[in-house]
Amino acid sequence: MKFVPEKKPIYEETLDSLTEKLVEMNEKPFRAKQVIEWLYKKRVGSWDEMTNLPKTLRSKLSEQFEIAPAKQILTKQSGDITDKLLLQLGDGSLIETVIIRVPQEGVGLEHSRKTVCISTQVGCAFGCRFCASGLDGWKRNLSTGEIVAQLLQVCFLEDARTPRARPEIPSFDNIVVMGMGEPLANYDNLLAALKIINADWGLNFGARRITVSTSGVVPQIKRLAEEPFQFRLAISLHGATNEVREQIMPINKRWPLEELLPAAKLFSQKQGRMLTLEYILIEEVNDQLEQAEHLADIANDLRAHVNLIPYNTVEGLPWKRPGIPRQDRFVSILKEQGVSVTIRREKGHEIDAACGQLRLRTEKELQTAK
Ligand code: SAH
Ligand code: SF4
Repeated sequence: MKFVPEKKPIYEETLDSLTEKLVEMNEKPFRAKQVIEWLYKKRVGSWDEMTNLPKTLRSKLSEQFEIAPAKQILTKQSGDITDKLLLQLGDGSLIETVIIRVPQEGVGLEHSRKTVCISTQVGCAFGCRFCASGLDGWKRNLSTGEIVAQLLQVCFLEDARTPRARPEIPSFDNIVVMGMGEPLANYDNLLAALKIINADWGLNFGARRITVSTSGVVPQIKRLAEEPFQFRLAISLHGATNEVREQIMPINKRWPLEELLPAAKLFSQKQGRMLTLEYILIEEVNDQLEQAEHLADIANDLRAHVNLIPYNTVEGLPWKRPGIPRQDRFVSILKEQGVSVTIRREKGHEIDAACGQLRLRTEKELQTAK
């Protein structure tokens, strides 16, 4: 069943679409600019705070538009490094948004670099064997407004925590679209949201600081390659041969490496951007030396950076994270082949920071509480 909200989320509107709507409501076009400025530069969370709008207009707007389509129901912190927000949407669905801080020498954590990880779907249809997001299947796509609202929610939190000299600029440095769901399977809503996030009247956040992660939806990678925005792309590879990849990622049957890799190459050529290959290390599944060799060939051919992620244990799944010596051996093979490689030493492991886990646990608790 499709979820139809009673009111339209205001975060779906662009400056143009809101101007049109206000004119239809017999209001002056410049009111749209005022509303948008309150939303994205002053970032208020209610109509009443928009003090330069006449009261009558505020009440008209509040009848038509919803300002907060996501409600924060839980925040989990992990040693100040990671904040995980569990958000409840209008239909009761739960999604996750994560703030990851990178500690820097001489800088307090509140002023350190921050990356925000956002979700694009409730659940996921792709069913990768290692991932908590897909365990309960796919429920629905997030709307454009729900994608944008996650970032506003982070802004509300961070603005209140750390007053800054230029509060109109969001306090985070990067956005990664790596939360729950497959972003490229919700292409239109995602693109509309990214345009609002990127627009100078919106969050004014540079496309080059936004990374979209995909499990390999080939036609949409090709489509993204043609877009005029320079978003970064990360491909979740997790297997360097079809044989290994299709064991853990059913999508590989639909779009095997011989289709995925040329699409990835097309993207980096058209956009002139270096790709990232994400590779989870799972013991004795994809962490063999031979896989490292194949991965090095792929990375060198694509001139891609490799980000290794030691597997994060998911309750109910049998996979294991390899020990540090095995991880290091994998890294050194890539390095020997001249690949640019980083290994993520897990942040926020103890708060279920991997994709979909907090939501899964909370949904289970809610079900048993019923
Ligand atoms: N659907 C997209 C984006 C969301 S998943 C994609 O697959 O790329 C974001 C990242 O989290 C992916 O690289 C995914 O493989 C990784 N991930 C999922 N489950 C994980 C786990 N248990 N441990 C570590 N990383 C995981
Ligand atoms: Fe979906 Fe990505 Fe998880 Fe695969 S890894 S199930 S594509 S969210």
